[in-house]
Amino acid sequence: MTQPEMKLAIRGLTKHYGSAMALDHVDLDLADGEFLTMLGPSGSGKSTLLWSVAGLNDSDAGKIWIDGREATSMPASARDIGMVFQNYALFPHMTVAENLSFPLEMRKVPALERALAIQRALEMVKLDHVGDRFCNQLSGGQQQRIALARAFVAGPSIVLMDEPLGALDKKLRDHLQLEIKRLHEQLNMTVLYVTHDQEEAMVMSDRICLMNQGRIEQIGTPEELYFRPKSLFAADFLGESNLIAGKVKSENGKWMTIDLPGIGVVKTLPSALLRSGPDIVHFTRPESIEILTDEQRKDNAFRGLVDEVVVSGAITKLFVRFGEAAKLQLSMLTSRSPRVRKGDAVRVGWDVDVGRLLAGRALEAA
Ligand code: ADP
Repeated sequence: MTQPEMKLAIRGLTKHYGSAMALDHVDLDLADGEFLTMLGPSGSGKSTLLWSVAGLNDSDAGKIWIDGREATSMPASARDIGMVFQNYALFPHMTVAENLSFPLEMRKVPALERALAIQRALEMVKLDHVGDRFCNQLSGGQQQRIALARAFVAGPSIVLMDEPLGALDKKLRDHLQLEIKRLHEQLNMTVLYVTHDQEEAMVMSDRICLMNQGRIEQIGTPEELYFRPKSLFAADFLGESNLIAGKVKSENGKWMTIDLPGIGVVKTLPSALLRSGPDIVHFTRPESIEILTDEQRKDNAFRGLVDEVVVSGAITKLFVRFGEAAKLQLSMLTSRSPRVRKGDAVRVGWDVDVGRLLAGRALEAA
């Protein structure tokens, strides 16, 4: 099997550390020019996968192709890969230009071409004035931009980035996220990126690969993962959500009705999950639910009491209680939020297509 049209193809990649399974039969394709982010909690296998692609660890089973060539047993130096780490991994007592020269020398690029490539790379990261400085004389943000330049200076097939912004403060991280996005677009780089930060993954990626215990939980565009999670784990890991256990009441081919204790009977689109049993978890994002006026019609509308109002700058969160136990969270722009207070009676509602049904925990374990 070859995967010539893909920059990277992985089939059945498996890796144990002792009895712990770090990767469990992972299949993954990365298209030319794509920015794909491995996202997941600590220990879910993201770095192990990245390091396997880089050739920095041996897998137990499975195959890897880079640019259509099988690379499973290739040494790291032969894989045509650029890599950026959290801790920069620059040579501190070499100048910036010497650091950038390193991957070019490894590829035996002649001196004149090397000088041009280094200059171009420094311009790309907007640091063309620091070529003669030593890396330990630069700030953290500058060092990480040099590390980025070193990863792409030799025009590798794929750039791998392992939590590259993890050591930087939030402001610098936000700024560099956009810088990396810009570089990705301008250079048409193919990037495999690792982060445990869901916001970072959403901002940067064409697709996100959500990892859980060495397996791919879900892979898709940021929008797909956020609005159409396929499991409780995916719904819970990305952003905030209302996850309410209920029971299927009826199905008529066009929609289903679900009984959510305390709230009422909710209409949703039909789901293949019905086959797995009557116990179900109903999912909505807080921003998909609205406060309704008395006249306003929605597929789903229920009356409750405001339990809490939390204004966090641009966003206001409302918690609405239904009876003793059931609660829904709503979020909206503060500038558009209705003037309601704790204890007020409100009507809330959402359209049939924004709710989703997920298998409950008991079903997932089965
Ligand atoms: P992530 O990058 O998602 O945090 P890792 O790929 O680092 O996850 O780790 C996956 C699993 O493999 C974890 O259970 C981790 O403890 C284990 N692991 C990773 N590297 C090693 C190692 N060098 N020795 C032993 N166990 C390891």
